[in-house]
Amino acid sequence: MFDLKHRRVFVAGHRGMVGSAIVRRLGTVDCQVLTVPRSSLDLTRQSDVEDWFQANKPDVVVLAAAKVGGIHANNVRPVDFLADNLSMELNVVRSSFEHGCKKLLFLGSTCIYPKFAKQPIAESELLTGPLEPTNEWYAIAKIAGIKLCQAFRKQYGSHFISAMPTNLYGPGDNYHPEDSHVVAALIRRFHEAKLSNAEEVVVWGTGMPRREFLHVDDLADACIFLLENYSEGEIVNIGWGSDIAIGEFAELIADIVNFQGRIVFDHSRPDGTPRKLVDTSRLNSLGWHPNIKLRKGLELTYQDFLGTLG
Ligand code: GDP
Repeated sequence: MFDLKHRRVFVAGHRGMVGSAIVRRLGTVDCQVLTVPRSSLDLTRQSDVEDWFQANKPDVVVLAAAKVGGIHANNVRPVDFLADNLSMELNVVRSSFEHGCKKLLFLGSTCIYPKFAKQPIAESELLTGPLEPTNEWYAIAKIAGIKLCQAFRKQYGSHFISAMPTNLYGPGDNYHPEDSHVVAALIRRFHEAKLSNAEEVVVWGTGMPRREFLHVDDLADACIFLLENYSEGEIVNIGWGSDIAIGEFAELIADIVNFQGRIVFDHSRPDGTPRKLVDTSRLNSLGWHPNIKLRKGLELTYQDFLGTLG
């Protein structure tokens, strides 16, 4: 058991959906949360990161900063997804080590697993086959981050751990129409279609792929649980435990938003990986389980989206 009480906890990426949820969750722990805006510290710049760590010396680091985006953004901006993520990881993980950080949590993603991994995907599937090409740039960077944490553990005994969240959604998501992930994209599209009385909404791909969705507040709770209760080299999946076809998911969003028209599928858009359900038995056996059911979580997220419209 690692006690977070009175520790200085640096959340890198606190403005993002994941980082902000972790900061909210840390608000219930008696610790000191450190954050730094991107305008003051660019995590891709090595010497700036070193200086910040030298000055602030966090006891605990959560690396939630990453260049992220949906299937389209990954496909068209491979350099950003590979290079920015690699430099942020290297700078933050190495500086954490050099400045005496006692525990670090690195956040990966389940897209690190092979495209045709056995479902549900166990942690042992990592590096057993080729990646899904639409997000391999991001995936390679995240795999490098996992290996970096494992390397520090192997060479120096550092208590650096890595967790792999499944597809996430919730408040603070990026609702950009093209660059977002499916949950935020469809919330926006269905909402706008309702307002304009459109007859149909276009959903990318065939509607056949299946995805598992986890509310980001559940993820944040799991992260704090792992910081307090886990210190092994093996990665840990964080997921809900079941998945849904994109077509059925679109119907659910239509229902929540109250869009009455048709749903059509644009087959010229990529489906991505056919299925991505993770095996969460490692995390469950440690004693953690998620709480927020999909419909409830989506209703909360729709409210958050409405709040961004101003
Ligand atoms: P992925 O899990 O890395 O593929 O991330 P996404 O959230 O971007 O996509 C999940 C699935 O939703 C894919 O099969 C997409 O083709 C599908 N999808 C359907 N409509 C959309 C949309 O408007 N935006 C995105 N990003 N995906 C969509």
